[in-house]
Amino acid sequence: MKIVLLGTSSAVPTLTRGLSSTALIRNGDVFLFDCGEGTQLQLMRSGVKRSRIHSIFIGHLHGDHLYGIAGLLSTLHLDGRETPMNVFGPEGLRIFLNAAFRTSDLQFTFNLNVREFPRGYRGRVLDEDEFYVDALPLDHSIFCLGWRFQEKDKPGVFNLERAEELEIPRGPLYGKLQHGESITLGDGRTISPDMVLGPPRHGKSVVYCLDTQFSERSIQLADKCTALIHETTFGPDAIDMARERKHSTMEDAARVAKEAGATSLIATHFSSRYDGRQVAQIGEEARDVFENITLGRDLLEIDI
Ligand SMILES: [Zn+2]
Ligand SMILES: [Zn+2]
Repeated sequence: MKIVLLGTSSAVPTLTRGLSSTALIRNGDVFLFDCGEGTQLQLMRSGVKRSRIHSIFIGHLHGDHLYGIAGLLSTLHLDGRETPMNVFGPEGLRIFLNAAFRTSDLQFTFNLNVREFPRGYRGRVLDEDEFYVDALPLDHSIFCLGWRFQEKDKPGVFNLERAEELEIPRGPLYGKLQHGESITLGDGRTISPDMVLGPPRHGKSVVYCLDTQFSERSIQLADKCTALIHETTFGPDAIDMARERKHSTMEDAARVAKEAGATSLIATHFSSRYDGRQVAQIGEEARDVFENITLGRDLLEIDI
């Protein structure tokens, strides 16, 4: 999977940072988390194909995470898109979208499936063959959902040599073992899948926590995840402001990553009060709490 940060600024754009949006790309499908103003331009700059967007997840309805969605969906309509589009987000999202599209009398060329969640909702919002997406409420000034994109575990790699040693005839029996079934051979021996399969391959996971103050729920959502994308609006100079506005400092996010046992933390949603050098400094200090921090910048690509 690949993560592409499309916008890393909080509240207002700057000349070097756009508003919140992050693309997760898996097998060519694009999953878009938040869609601040300017997201469609950033998609073009990044080379992430808007035609391949599978679903859009809007965590909360603050403008810096939302106001780009009307423009993006309108462009997809002009593209003549036919594939249905899923949009997930808190209650109120539909009112916003209806207002925009009724005002412009826009009748989409594709099915727009909007799914809203009531305040406090937690649960599985998408469940496909190879992955699922869970939502959990975070702790922000308005209702805000965090998301966990989780690949399902795959069976271990089939050990051909071992299968030959055990004198299992080639053919359909191999397939049965690969699908987790035990088999009985002509000579009466029973072969169980663990005898020929390596250890199960654990699916990777990406957790998205924007916007929120430090919360036990973020830790729960990010439990042992591969990559935690967490807002880091402020540095140690503005702890009071972070608490007051229900945002996180870089150190708060580092604590969440550490306590959740995450493999890596991707820091984003920086206040416009900091330039790149200051963000680097704040990141350096937070590495005392959690070592593996990637400091976000617009159009940064991260393979996971
Ligand atoms: Zn924000
Ligand atoms: Zn917000």
